[in-house]
Amino acid sequence: MELYKDILELYIHIPFCVKKCDYCDFLSGCYDEDIRRSYTDALCREIKWRGIRLGSKKITSIYIGGGTPSWLEVDYMARIMDTVHQYFHVDPLAEVTIECNPGTVSAENFNVYRSVGINRISIGLQSANADELKLLGRIHTFDRFLHTFEFARVAGFSDISVDIMTGLPGQTPAKLLQTIHQVCRLQPEHISAYSLIIEKGTPFYDRYKFDAVKQHAGMATEVLPDENQEYELYKTAQMQLVAHGYEQYEISNYAKKGHVCQHNIGYWKRVPYLGLGLGAASLMDEVRFSNERNIHDYIAHADDLVMENFNQESPMMEESEKLSRQAAMEEFMFLGLRMNAGVSRTEFRQAFGLEIDGVYGQTIQRLRDEGLLEAAEGRIFLNERGMDLSNYAMALFLQ
Ligand code: SF4
Repeated sequence: MELYKDILELYIHIPFCVKKCDYCDFLSGCYDEDIRRSYTDALCREIKWRGIRLGSKKITSIYIGGGTPSWLEVDYMARIMDTVHQYFHVDPLAEVTIECNPGTVSAENFNVYRSVGINRISIGLQSANADELKLLGRIHTFDRFLHTFEFARVAGFSDISVDIMTGLPGQTPAKLLQTIHQVCRLQPEHISAYSLIIEKGTPFYDRYKFDAVKQHAGMATEVLPDENQEYELYKTAQMQLVAHGYEQYEISNYAKKGHVCQHNIGYWKRVPYLGLGLGAASLMDEVRFSNERNIHDYIAHADDLVMENFNQESPMMEESEKLSRQAAMEEFMFLGLRMNAGVSRTEFRQAFGLEIDGVYGQTIQRLRDEGLLEAAEGRIFLNERGMDLSNYAMALFLQ
């Protein structure tokens, strides 16, 4: 895509957790120190191999996710960031985020993070209520979260995001409000409010799978919120966070002025990104590819990387798919419409050499007639009703 040919976002995956949470199907697990060290070696090798090939691109954001990146020894994290800076051209203004979980990070760690160029912290709180944290299988208490938040502030971080969850089993609007009030009291710059998804292969799936089916079918549920209750929780979060001075800029994301997550915006705008580490996904030159998902294979394949061989395909890569122009246009629309700002007509033209109305004119008109979509100042976006019905609206762009 011509639009962003000189820039790149980096995602770095750290697949380590203290213990697996009951709802989590992310690629993460509990590994000993030997594996953490070998993984860091392998990751640094992969960063070097990729950097030698892509070092001319300007890195506009870095997101270190997991897993629990803050559970990795801090000197290993420093090594990883030093390697990135050595082999990539990181924009001095780049947003660099690390995910931290309460109870896994000391005050000193935050000082090290700052010293290696990390400038944004994302803390996984999920809930301020002890019973909900226990239900989720989280290792922390709300007090632990407060300490973590305080450590980050004292270390000088002025860009902190907090994750909370909606749609928990038995969650009422009143309980969600308790979490929101407790979080907003701290004035983080950014809040993500994700709704729980019951994923196969998790303890939650075993516990709630029948309820999840009922939830999807619009039937009455037993413990999970039904469709209407889910909507009520979503609207509660939206109204309260807006009332606390946060602007909703995407379905699940809210920020104080000037603090939207640049990395996520890039993802929704289809800025090319390179994923480094176990199972990490990438999108470059309209090719979507992802790394090996087995940690032992990932570590073993690092030895096969030949720095000087510029024809070599990454031996760590597991899957790759060239997107058709049609698929890329669909992605542009349904990712872009997640954002309140929607999509830009100019950017669509720059990306695909076509007018957006020439491709999606009928769909756009239909959604405008249904009162879900609006157009202004060269942009097309879902209005509040459209956002409430976003699954329906976005599906119309898939041809
Ligand atoms: S801490 Fe995060 S990545 Fe780790 S198990 Fe829990 S939800 Fe999953």
